[in-house]
Amino acid sequence: MRSDPGPNGGYSLTVDLDEVSVIEAPTDSGQCVLANRSCDEAGPCALRVPCLRGQIQLLQELSATSVADAALLDNVEVARS
Ligand SMILES: [Zn+2]
Repeated sequence: MRSDPGPNGGYSLTVDLDEVSVIEAPTDSGQCVLANRSCDEAGPCALRVPCLRGQIQLLQELSATSVADAALLDNVEVARS
């Protein structure tokens, strides 16, 4: 990310968008999907394991998609530096 001052300034990405993954996130928030409580190895609910598997698959799909790919698929203009 680069910042340029002035009337034509602003923020711009200085990285190659083809190399940037859409998402980088932890797979386990520790938050239960069934109730407003924590959910972990010590006290898992019935959905903990299937949800973790689903999250991992989702993240794998998303991490295989670059920002440039996503913009192309979505027909969105991405400002390039
Ligand atoms: Zn849970």
